[in-house]
Amino acid sequence: MTTLIVGGGWSGLAAGVRLSQQGHKVHLFESARQLGGRARSVDWQGLAVDNGQHLMIGAYRQTLSLLNDIGADNARLFHRLPLNIDIHDPDYPSLRIAAGFGLPWPLSLAWRLWRDNDGSCLAQISRINLLARRFQAAQDISVASWLTQADQSHRLVRQLWEPLCLATLNTPIKEASAAVFARVLSTTFRARSDTDLLIPRLPLGETLPRLAEHYIRQHGGQIHLQSRVENIEIEAGRVTGLVTQTGARFDADNIIVATPLAASRALLSNHLSLPDCGSFPIATVYLQYPSSCRLPAPVTGMSGSLSQWLFDRHELRPGLLAVVISGPGEHEKMTKDALLAQVAREIRQQWPQFPAMPEDGLVIREKRATFACNVDIQRQRPNNRTEITGLWLAGDFVANPYPATLEGAVLNGEQTAMKLMDHVNASR
Ligand SMILES: Cc1cc2nc3c(=O)[nH]c(=O)nc-3n(C[C@H](O)[C@H](O)[C@H](O)COP(=O)(O)OP(=O)(O)OC[C@H]3O[C@@H](n4cnc5c(N)ncnc54)[C@H](O)[C@@H]3O)c2cc1C
Repeated sequence: MTTLIVGGGWSGLAAGVRLSQQGHKVHLFESARQLGGRARSVDWQGLAVDNGQHLMIGAYRQTLSLLNDIGADNARLFHRLPLNIDIHDPDYPSLRIAAGFGLPWPLSLAWRLWRDNDGSCLAQISRINLLARRFQAAQDISVASWLTQADQSHRLVRQLWEPLCLATLNTPIKEASAAVFARVLSTTFRARSDTDLLIPRLPLGETLPRLAEHYIRQHGGQIHLQSRVENIEIEAGRVTGLVTQTGARFDADNIIVATPLAASRALLSNHLSLPDCGSFPIATVYLQYPSSCRLPAPVTGMSGSLSQWLFDRHELRPGLLAVVISGPGEHEKMTKDALLAQVAREIRQQWPQFPAMPEDGLVIREKRATFACNVDIQRQRPNNRTEITGLWLAGDFVANPYPATLEGAVLNGEQTAMKLMDHVNASR
């Protein structure tokens, strides 16, 4: 019997690949014109850019191994760089975080923190690292309270922890879950290679979405684009099929719903109670400067400004920068032109050799980029197996140790597929 998957983001695709790999037939329904969901490519005057500049790290083991299994050459897909980031601030000296080399891990990191910054930074970051490993997840508090308890200076909160919390949890520190943040820190700094930065060299749509589509089709699966699922049919506590917006009906014993939390809530409102955790936006500002303009590093942080993380995308097109602004803020109310002008001003303050304005610019606002990773979020996230027989959940919001990330989405897709296969095998 065919398994139906609703949603062609990275989670639904991961589930589709793993099911196909084990000989299960898959039909995947995606409401948009293309696959990829919140990590997809969009066309900007003939150039494929991403709906949001994404960054992966070496610790994304599930994603990298899935890509490897479907024939990706990860070295071609990603620019892999050792951790080496400067975070600039108008009021403080720049902070440098580098993985270092020549010494065993984590001594190399500690040595670089001490050498590049000062002893107080090293002491404070080491304290957080230790506390992160010991964090009692059951007693969650906000990241802001946790940092206060851990005696972190105003400088480190503003220049390091706040930007890092926004980059990983996309949630302001006063609301963000310290349990999830502590978990992210301890996972990221487990080994030197885990801290590597992986920047997609190709548009995101050319990575997992294209390869997974090919893999699923090659294994006899079908992918239906522009097919919004309107209804999941459930009779006597078990799924029987689904209906798309055109009225087409598909029978199934097993359906995986891998849509974003709000969409899953809407689709399943008559059958399941899913949490309403809210969401936060992410804006990506693309600025096209003359081709000679380059940032000193592929990734640079900024604090005390609207711009948070700057990516030099010259591999995509010389002179192209992508600036990421995570979470809520005053930028949400700014017009496109005002936001572009403000970001360009902040770039010029730091690098006066850049022109006052770029030649061209694009602002992409994802209003519901991620679920809000608030205090106690881990108690609210649902499991992939539901009380309705044959109804399974995937997507980044389903329970896992991570915030809304590609890794969490892939992990959930794969785990849902595995549990579904175990269930099918056990009931044969
Ligand atoms: C701007 C931005 C920047 C980000 N940066 C990073 C980053 O740097 N690193 C990182 O790890 N993560 C990042 N993320 C988070 C990451 O992109 C998401 O966590 C991940 O893509 C979620 O995948 P998903 O498959 O769970 O959900 P989605 O990608 O949302 O996929 C769900 C799919 O379901 C489809 N759908 C919805 N309703 C229906 C329906 N009724 N019928 C059929 N289809 C339907 C949607 O169209 C969508 O394609 C970022 C997200 C955004 C938006």
